[in-house]
Amino acid sequence: MPPFFVSGVRVLFGVRVKCQSEFTLALYSDPVNERWHFTLTPLGLRMTEGLNRRSLLKFGVAATTGAGISSARAASDPQTLPTVNYVTLGRTGVRISDISFGASQLRSGGEHLVDHAFERGINYFDTADSYTGGVSESVIGRALQGKRDKVVIATKTRSGSRTSASTIMQSLESSLTSLKTEYVDIFFNHAVNDLDRLRNPEWLEFAEKAKKQGKIRFTGMSGHAGNLSECVDYAVDNDLFDVFLLSQNFGQDPAFYERFSRSFDLVAKLPDLPAAMARAKAKNIGIIGMKVLRGAKLNDMRPFEKDGNTYAQAAFKWTLSTDYIDAAIVSMKSVERIDEFLATARSRLVTKSDFELLEQYARMTDLTYCRHACNDCEGACPMQVPIADVLRTRMYAVDYNNLDFAKAEYQQLGDGASACLSCDGQPCQDACTHGISISSYCGPTHSMLS
Ligand code: SF4
Ligand code: SF4
Repeated sequence: MPPFFVSGVRVLFGVRVKCQSEFTLALYSDPVNERWHFTLTPLGLRMTEGLNRRSLLKFGVAATTGAGISSARAASDPQTLPTVNYVTLGRTGVRISDISFGASQLRSGGEHLVDHAFERGINYFDTADSYTGGVSESVIGRALQGKRDKVVIATKTRSGSRTSASTIMQSLESSLTSLKTEYVDIFFNHAVNDLDRLRNPEWLEFAEKAKKQGKIRFTGMSGHAGNLSECVDYAVDNDLFDVFLLSQNFGQDPAFYERFSRSFDLVAKLPDLPAAMARAKAKNIGIIGMKVLRGAKLNDMRPFEKDGNTYAQAAFKWTLSTDYIDAAIVSMKSVERIDEFLATARSRLVTKSDFELLEQYARMTDLTYCRHACNDCEGACPMQVPIADVLRTRMYAVDYNNLDFAKAEYQQLGDGASACLSCDGQPCQDACTHGISISSYCGPTHSMLS
């Protein structure tokens, strides 16, 4: 077999082996990182699509030698900076970078971050009218002037169960002004967490009109709180959106817990979400993952990272190797982080050292991390405190270290956790299926963010 190139590595040797299942054994060198790998690939899986983790796990052969990539070195050496992978976002047909720019924490003066991401090849920029009090949209608008035909811009607004079509249109027009553009590629209904919001016919009336007027190309739904699977199912059944932006990380994935079933006693959340996403994919709806880092305590993981292989890269690899996710966004807060994230593009193999980093992170955050898209404690509070949402805003303040963003998000929660200040915490004492002490966090969150 003559040598040939696959995904930037040189395959030196390939044989087809037949036992219970037929697969290909390939030995290849990675000249950039000076490493050797071997892989066993189920026949029929095109290697150019990446060595899909599920497929490999299915065959029990996620094996490499010289595990890990020299991402830190890559990030610091312009000659070896990674190129971005581009993917087609479902039926939109739009090609976007599979690791893309989340602008939820973009502040004034952040134009250089947008510039840097664009220069590195990122072409998808995701913002919302509420991010950094509207500053995020303005920064994106300024930074991307003159590049409109080279980028894909998405923004969001919260459309409630009674929001009128004209109000949604006003939100869109305000966003267009801030973004200095005549249209956005994707307009999301933001943070959807109950079916009533999806049942509002005003959204559909708005969407049809905005598309006709050329102000939006596609519509989407973002979601990261409770009832996520239910909302996705409903939206798929009623064909409401072209794109989903969904919380998706290793900690939500049942496959992650299957991998650790003998030594890891945590349980996967939202076991129904993969099935809901599969139904979405069957309709060719684009799916973008968010919350990939599961809380962003990146610095806490530095002592455990080896050979330049970082926790963030491991988390990206996991999410991007799942069957349903086309691409992922992440808050990009420094040029160093952008380069670190993009270094993931050099490999999609989830290696043994990646698993170890993910497991370490899951253990470290077990008793403080409110699982994205979990809502097991719903109904536990007689005062209707939206516990999961309150703890999400706490995460923005404490883990992301972004008090302004946390306060802005907390404001959206109405009374939030104010009731916790005069409650003894008994009703929710055992409500968290993950052992989080809800009352210890909700009251203080209200004090911090109100
Ligand atoms: S502490 Fe009381 S008010 Fe707060 S969430 Fe728990 S039960 Fe509800
Ligand atoms: S507090 Fe616990 S049960 Fe409630 S949403 Fe968070 S992780 Fe789930």
